[in-house]
Amino acid sequence: MKTLVTGGCGFIGSHAVDRLLAEGHEVTVIDNLSSGNIRNLEHHKGNPKLQVHIAGIEEHAKIESLFAGIDWVFHLAALADIVPSIEKPMQYHNSNVNGTISVLEACRKHQVKRIIYSASSSCYGIPDSFPTPETAEIRCQYPYAVTKYLGEEYCLYWEQIYKMNITCMRFFNVYGTRARTSGTYGAVFGVFLAQKLNNKSYTVVGDGKQTRDFTYVTDIVDACVTAVKRDDVSGQIFNVGSGNTYSINRLVQLLGGEITYIPKRPGEPDCTFADTKKIHKTLNWTPKVSLEEGVKIMLENIDYWKEAPLWDTNSIAEATKDWFKYLGK
Ligand code: UDP
Repeated sequence: MKTLVTGGCGFIGSHAVDRLLAEGHEVTVIDNLSSGNIRNLEHHKGNPKLQVHIAGIEEHAKIESLFAGIDWVFHLAALADIVPSIEKPMQYHNSNVNGTISVLEACRKHQVKRIIYSASSSCYGIPDSFPTPETAEIRCQYPYAVTKYLGEEYCLYWEQIYKMNITCMRFFNVYGTRARTSGTYGAVFGVFLAQKLNNKSYTVVGDGKQTRDFTYVTDIVDACVTAVKRDDVSGQIFNVGSGNTYSINRLVQLLGGEITYIPKRPGEPDCTFADTKKIHKTLNWTPKVSLEEGVKIMLENIDYWKEAPLWDTNSIAEATKDWFKYLGK
């Protein structure tokens, strides 16, 4: 197949590229390197089946022609993280919403056969029930969640109106090798691994008893590739999770080291836990990598986080000021 991965130099995108090339497909990557890094694809250098284009997905005139002849699109490009989305909501809207329409329109023009959209479990906010099914109420807590949800809505409307084949995958707490390490304060794994490398204590939020559905990146990619191969499934939303939920204290135990406790933040759920019955039943998909296995792989590759920013109580307090200011009651 001729495939296209937006955000292919990023964390999840580069794993999607690995998988698609391993299956023998041709891959075109579009990435603006805002948080992705070309070194994530270094191991494919010289592979004639891979083409990389540096452009933003919202730059429609620049990217549109790259969709000619493409069979499958994996739309994984997005701006991530909570704090910068509160500080720069227009940038998030531009990348995650305008960028998504731009991708959809390019797909429509070139009659792309199937599209996978990377939606986010952050749309559930603080839900009433665990595990949380796809039918749970939408309760976005911050601009990042809103923009990813709007992107999902656009996908579903384009699916209906223009009769395109689109599947939306709501990812839960994705982690794995090459997890992003840009300057902004973000997902827990990058923070903790940099702290481990520097022999510093882990900045655990609250009492560390909160749990997350940590889902290993190759499982996420596997779910997307499984979905793209099913032409009988379209216009559907699927949760993609690990089938489990793990406490931050358990994560610390697996990583080993000291803890410093930092204040709980407003708008953060005490638990994320995907109800994966739908994806199991419809796509016959199940996750394969446990947290224990995933953490082991990350520790084997810990050198990747050598240049990652090192966070401590004070710098986190400074970086999360707007979080407390705008999301606090
Ligand atoms: N977390 C933590 N210390 C940090 C950053 C995050 O204990 O320095 C916790 C956070 O409270 C949450 C979990 O790790 O329970 C996952 O946080 P992340 O930001 O990765 O994902 P999200 O909260 O958006 O699910």
